[in-house]
Amino acid sequence: MTHEVRAVVVREKGAPASVETVLVPDPGPGEVLVRVDACGICPVDLHHREGRAAASYPVLLGHEAAGVVEAAGAGTRLAPGDFVVLNWRAPCGSCRLCRRGRPWHCRVPLRAARSTALPDGAEPAPVLGVGGFAEKTLVAEGQCVRVDPAVSPVAAALLGCGVLTGFGAAVRTGAVGRGDSVAVIGCGTVGLAAVAGARAAGARRVVGVDTDGRRLDRAERLGATGTVDASRIDPADGVRALTDGLGADVVVDATGTARTARQALRATASTGVAVLASAPGQGELGAPGAVVELPLRDLHACGAALCTSWYGDSLPSRDLPALVDLHLAGRLDLGAFQGERLALADVAGVLARAANSGGAVVLPGR
Ligand SMILES: [Zn+2]
Ligand SMILES: [Zn+2]
Repeated sequence: MTHEVRAVVVREKGAPASVETVLVPDPGPGEVLVRVDACGICPVDLHHREGRAAASYPVLLGHEAAGVVEAAGAGTRLAPGDFVVLNWRAPCGSCRLCRRGRPWHCRVPLRAARSTALPDGAEPAPVLGVGGFAEKTLVAEGQCVRVDPAVSPVAAALLGCGVLTGFGAAVRTGAVGRGDSVAVIGCGTVGLAAVAGARAAGARRVVGVDTDGRRLDRAERLGATGTVDASRIDPADGVRALTDGLGADVVVDATGTARTARQALRATASTGVAVLASAPGQGELGAPGAVVELPLRDLHACGAALCTSWYGDSLPSRDLPALVDLHLAGRLDLGAFQGERLALADVAGVLARAANSGGAVVLPGR
C-alpha cells in the first residue's frame, strides 16, 4: 500500500518550494513510517533549495522532525503509537569512522531503502534522509529515537537538528566544564542551544553574541550571563571585556562564516578551544570555497585549538532522550527556541525570504 500525502518539494535547483502530493510506500524490513507532527525550518533546507547542498533534484525538504510511528517494518523494535524524534545521522556501526568511535561522521548512515515518489514517477530525495515537511515520511528505524511522549511535538522537533547540534558543540566538542567561561557567536537555534548546554554543564560565564537584540534576549532567557551586540562592538573585543580581558575558555561559532570563525579564535582564551558548529553556506562569507586565514604566530603561542563539530558530535540514540528528560525536568527551556507555527504551504515563503527562520516550526497536519 502507498500513502498519498502532502509534502514540500523543490523540483530543481533554485526553484521555489511547493506543496505536492507524494506517494510514500509502506515500511519494508528495518523501516518505519512516521506521521510527522512537527518539523522545524533549518538553514540547511535553504541550502538544498538553492543548490548548495543537494546532489540531485527533486528534493523533499525538512529534516528536523518529530512524530508518531504509524507502521513499523519487520525486524524493528518500534511499534505504532511510539513518539519519536527523527535524526539524520543513524550510524551504520561498521564503517571506519563508526569503528573509530566517531559515529556522528558515519559515511553510510542508515536511511530508508524504499523511495517516496511523485505522481509522475520522479523520486524526490529526502533532505538528509528525513523529508520532514510531509504529513508522513519513511525512514530507517535507526533514524527514530523514542522519547518520553510528555514532550510537545514542537519542542521535540527542534531537538532533532539545531538543538542537538548546539548543545553538543558546547558540551561534547567543547567539553565545557564547571567554572568555565563560554562565548557563543550567533544566537539562532544552534547558538541558543550552545548557551543552554554551557549553562547545563556548569559554565560560570556565558556570553551570547549577535546583531539582533531579540536573539540576545533569548540567549539571556537560556542563561547567558552577558551579551555582545555585534552590530556595535567587535565580537572578540566584547567577549574579552566580559571575561576579565582573557577571552573565553570555549567559544562556539554557530554562524558558519569565515569571518566569525576568525572572530571565534580571537575571542578564545589561551589554551581554550574555538568550536565551529554550523555548516558553512549562509551568505557570501560562508559560501562554499570560503577560506579562513589565521595568524599562525598568535595561534601557536596561545595554545588554543580550533576544531569543528558535526551534529554536535552527538549520538542521537543516547542524547535525544536525555535532552527530553532535561526539558521535562525544567532544566532546558525549549520554549525559548520556538518561533512561528506554520502550515506546509508557508514553507516556500519562509525560504524565499532567505532570512533566519527564528525557530519557525511547521505542523504538517494543519
Ligand atoms: Zn538542520
Ligand atoms: Zn558508519
